[in-house]
Amino acid sequence: MSVKQVEVLVPIPIPEKFSYLLPNQMKASPPKPGTRVIVPFGNRNLVGVVWNVGNGIAPKGKKLKYLKEVLDSQPLLDKASLNLADWASRYYHYPLGDVISYFFPPPIRKGKEAKFVEIKFLELTNKGEFVNIEELSKSPNQKKLIEVLQEKKTLSQRAANAYGVNSSSINALIDKGLISRYMRELSPYKKEEFSIAKGVKKKLNNEQKFAVDSIINSKSQNRVFLLNGITGSGKTEVYLQAIQEVIKKGKQALILIPEIGLAPQAEERFKKYFGERVLSFHSAKNNREKVDAWLGASKGLIDIVIGTRSSVFMPMKDIGIIVVDEEHDLSYKQVDRFRYSARDIALYRAKIEKIPVVLASATPSLETLNNSLKGKYEILNLTKRATGANLPKYLPVDLRGKELKEGFSDELIDGTEEELHKGNQVLIFLNRRGYAPSLICKTCGWLSNCDRCDALMTVHKRPQKLQCHHCESQRNLPTTCPECQSEDFLTYGYGTERIEEFLIKRFPKFPVLRVDSDSTRKKESMHEYLDEINSGRPMILLGTQLLAKGHHFPDVTLVGVLDADSGLFSADFRGSERVAQLMTQVAGRAGRDKKPGKAILQSYCPDHPQIEELVKGSYESFAKNLLEERRLAKSPPFAFQAKIQAESSNSYVSRDFIKTLINKLKKSKSFPKDIRVIGPIPAIMEKKSGVYRWELNILSSSRNSLHKFLDLGQASLYDSQTSKRVRWSIDVDPLSSM
Ligand code: ADP
Ligand code: ZN
Ligand code: ZN
Repeated sequence: MSVKQVEVLVPIPIPEKFSYLLPNQMKASPPKPGTRVIVPFGNRNLVGVVWNVGNGIAPKGKKLKYLKEVLDSQPLLDKASLNLADWASRYYHYPLGDVISYFFPPPIRKGKEAKFVEIKFLELTNKGEFVNIEELSKSPNQKKLIEVLQEKKTLSQRAANAYGVNSSSINALIDKGLISRYMRELSPYKKEEFSIAKGVKKKLNNEQKFAVDSIINSKSQNRVFLLNGITGSGKTEVYLQAIQEVIKKGKQALILIPEIGLAPQAEERFKKYFGERVLSFHSAKNNREKVDAWLGASKGLIDIVIGTRSSVFMPMKDIGIIVVDEEHDLSYKQVDRFRYSARDIALYRAKIEKIPVVLASATPSLETLNNSLKGKYEILNLTKRATGANLPKYLPVDLRGKELKEGFSDELIDGTEEELHKGNQVLIFLNRRGYAPSLICKTCGWLSNCDRCDALMTVHKRPQKLQCHHCESQRNLPTTCPECQSEDFLTYGYGTERIEEFLIKRFPKFPVLRVDSDSTRKKESMHEYLDEINSGRPMILLGTQLLAKGHHFPDVTLVGVLDADSGLFSADFRGSERVAQLMTQVAGRAGRDKKPGKAILQSYCPDHPQIEELVKGSYESFAKNLLEERRLAKSPPFAFQAKIQAESSNSYVSRDFIKTLINKLKKSKSFPKDIRVIGPIPAIMEKKSGVYRWELNILSSSRNSLHKFLDLGQASLYDSQTSKRVRWSIDVDPLSSM
């Protein structure tokens, strides 16, 4: 029986699938699920993806339209990818048509051909094969080309040009019917055996060996491992060797990393191991590179894909393992539109594919730690630094009553001086870019408030401006106070630009390398900085969290944290977890190689229990204490959480939107019982980018009930489309409250 219609996903934000009739010529071999098609939608044509093939029921009162065109001869997405999309759409309560678009690089999403670059090739026709070459002796170039083609069968047009045969000779031969021209796809990837260079592969210590063995011998195929190793304990070495075993079996590996800045370094290390069949995938790649990588991975021409968040959707021909490095990192969670967590998608993908997944971290998130303690994940501990080095010594510096020089205590200045003169590198950490976080009028107290956010604008000196770090809006730096015309300003607080200025003055003989998102805006700059650091010369590295993550700097012996208190008193209950992770990671940059390291933590409250725990240097006991607090407070991971947010240009409108929603839901018969709903409450930063945000916070001890509630909520939210003034969003497992 021939098929009459197909169900198609279109990239629009409504959770519906649309049916289209198949034109007669398509009925015999209808496009399979996962194939791109062009369909009419309203008065436009859209690129959609076939979801289902069959004789579905037409929506009532609607006349079905005909599908226009099939773009691919084979489906671009396999069953596993379609399943993953379906799950993600239901889990995050986000429209499937939009979720699907995350599986494609932009050109493919927009309908471009799913092909490598095509170039012109020449070959002999039948007539050309038997031509008497002497007939061409008047045109030596034509003769030459025929001779070459008789030997080589095919030749790219470019190669023909290189033989000195120009286009007019080629065209003349085509006109005579002796050769023909065709387009051929040129894959940049070669299928080749890899061999690991001598001396690259390290001899593993016992803990590492146990870890690798556990991963590669995992009998039940889908096992989740927490590779819980202190900074520098050789976690990367462990998963490199586990991946090697996977690849030997002809399968592929996907490695997620948190920061695009870590990509070049990771790619280099992998290439040393595995040669050219390793590829990194992230937003700085151009469209051509993205399409090539995507094709390479989905055709199985690439063994290893290293990528940032969105790479978790990369289709792969035969995936055998997934690694999520620095699994605790916040950047795995997308914070707008489709609010997914790449780590959690990776876990589900591994489950569908029945493959092991390795979550690696020195500072695992509380969710992951909790799952490991419960026995859901297997813990692989690495307790020693792989190079034999010790963890850095923590030295708290009590700032109370001390006179500081631009935020520096004498202890930190002296420590820096000493290490530099010994020929070592020093890392100064301050998680705030710009010159100073605020500008104050000394006469009337005017503050550099952002007009569009509940936040202060940061002073920047190079170039000079006021900039809001929440909405990116900018203003000229005022020369006179907008309120009282006074010229007497106070630039209050410290940012990396200001500290850089101080360090250059204080240590004129040593280079100061400032690494933050301002100084690394250019595509290659992070790479250049890393080369500079790896030269090993004595210097000061000054940076934000960009420097704290994952890097291996063998010559850093001292890490100075200017402000260890930042985040201690955060309004977000996750604040302490974040600070502990960041501090441990930053300090972990010290003494990773042969030379021992120290970490100086400057604090105004060194006897705060959290600072005390940090100084002891045990993230794990710190995290277990936090888990206990969360258990008592019944907050995540001991409850499942979601948030519904409304934003509009008017605070009351946003609030009332949430209020109406919850009142309506409470009347519903299917309102789940075990749900705690808090709200409407304003977001921690109520006004941001010119809109006012109110929230509904939803907690439940049952994942199922939470989803039931969200299903209800989602249906009702789509019904309330009348309110164009309000934009709403659903965030499942939210991570931040900003
Ligand atoms: P992590 O990923 O835990 O931070 P890495 O894998 O980057 O740690 O290892 C830190 C350093 O130790 C690297 O220079 C690495 O080459 C080295 N290393 C790792 N494993 C071993 C080993 N078994 N023997 C010697 N050196 C090792
Ligand atoms: Zn003033
Ligand atoms: Zn702003």
